[in-house]
Amino acid sequence: MNLYEKYPISLTNSLSGKKEAFVPINVGSVGMYVCGPTVYSDVHLGNVRTFLTFDVISRYFRHLGYKLRYVRNITDVGHLENDADEGEDKIAKKARLEKLEPMEVVKNYTEGFHEVLRQFNMIPPSIEPTATAHIVEQIEITKKLITNGFAYEVNGSVYFDVTKYNESHDYGILSGRKIEDLMESGRKLDSQDEKRNKIDFALWKKASPYHIMRWPSPWGDGFPGWHIECTVMSTKYLGETFDIHGGGMDLKFPHHECEIAQAVGANGKNPVNYWLHSNMLTVNGQKMSKSLGNSFLPRELFTGNHALLERGYSPMSVRFFMLQSHYSSTLDFSNEALASAEKGFKKLSNSLGAIKNLTAVVSNQTNTELVKELNRMVDDCYLSMSDDFNSAKAIAGLFVMSARINDFKSGNTSLEQVDIETFEKFKSTYVDMMEKVLGLKEETDADGSHLNGAIQVLIELRKKARADRNYALSDKIRDDLQAVGVQLKDGKNGEISYTIE
Ligand SMILES: [Zn+2]
Repeated sequence: MNLYEKYPISLTNSLSGKKEAFVPINVGSVGMYVCGPTVYSDVHLGNVRTFLTFDVISRYFRHLGYKLRYVRNITDVGHLENDADEGEDKIAKKARLEKLEPMEVVKNYTEGFHEVLRQFNMIPPSIEPTATAHIVEQIEITKKLITNGFAYEVNGSVYFDVTKYNESHDYGILSGRKIEDLMESGRKLDSQDEKRNKIDFALWKKASPYHIMRWPSPWGDGFPGWHIECTVMSTKYLGETFDIHGGGMDLKFPHHECEIAQAVGANGKNPVNYWLHSNMLTVNGQKMSKSLGNSFLPRELFTGNHALLERGYSPMSVRFFMLQSHYSSTLDFSNEALASAEKGFKKLSNSLGAIKNLTAVVSNQTNTELVKELNRMVDDCYLSMSDDFNSAKAIAGLFVMSARINDFKSGNTSLEQVDIETFEKFKSTYVDMMEKVLGLKEETDADGSHLNGAIQVLIELRKKARADRNYALSDKIRDDLQAVGVQLKDGKNGEISYTIE
């Protein structure tokens, strides 16, 4: 029996708003598309959470024995500064400001994005297509939408006719928005506007003479709209109807709503069976945003080099911290929560090292109750993950297992009480859940845990030196640490934190 038959997955489908049994289109296979980054700036932590959610989901599908094709795109053209098809293309703007070719901007930030995901131990997707490599397909589907009567051309641009589409279909099926409300809100169209209705969106935009990113099309030189690339790349690699489409909650409207309308308008088929959305990050209870000054980059989190951070946290501690919440809940960042996640991770990580060194023993004195308990722990971990990928519950299960591992290690519970098969299953479940499914790996010195310990020792010595009024020694500790790139920060109440350059 396959693991996926033993522990069938249920997931919360944003389309129905309900938890549903997962039934793939092809038995034993899963096709999943996730909206990737627009590569015009450093990837922020909110994006990291989204990609981490789908990293764990893809790891779990594979671990259960599914053959998975995971497609995550790179948006390298067409994402304008706001959702109303207005403003400059984000990449073209960055290129202009930095005096670079747009493709230099794309390359720099794509590499940075990959590096961050690698630090967090994420596995690359099966295919990572780019929008600029699929211009031909985007033109083709736009032509099809015009032919099917769902799109119109004005002055070299092509727009999707939402009102027309809504006559025969349901625009708002995913987000629950009503077309009448959308028509009421926001700014009114004026005589400058090309759109028939304000809720229409661009499939193709005419390029002004100064616009650098441009391609020839039946409507003149231009570039694709943002939503159309995902419709093209998902259906090209996964089929006109595929299993799962994921992304951050902020993409549900308009991006994903538009994807459905485009696919239905072009192919006459509902493109996606299950929509999954991961929730937002908050900082000390507030929404994380650049304008509030409370958003930090992954590297600031690792070094602690940010006004809101008391110190740095290792990538694995942050990964663990994020997985301690269900992906559909908001997740709040605070120094306390990070520090406690770091401790928790260390505990589970120690047990991981311990169980790898334990081997089952042949015995004729097995304890039936204990054997039952270990088997239940194994089931609990899988059932939690199969219940809408509940990593938070699975981690709670690992803590229970960790306590047992410590009993075995200390000899409090003899390994002779467990039969070999049960112990091996218990051991492989713990190791697989930690490493393969949750993607947590033991951290070495270079990753910071021992280094942090050593620096804390020096910080305590410095506090003692100051208390003894031995300022020569306390200054020497500070200066010598600074010389090797460790910056001490004196905080309130005599607390000392540090950052590593
Ligand atoms: Zn997308």
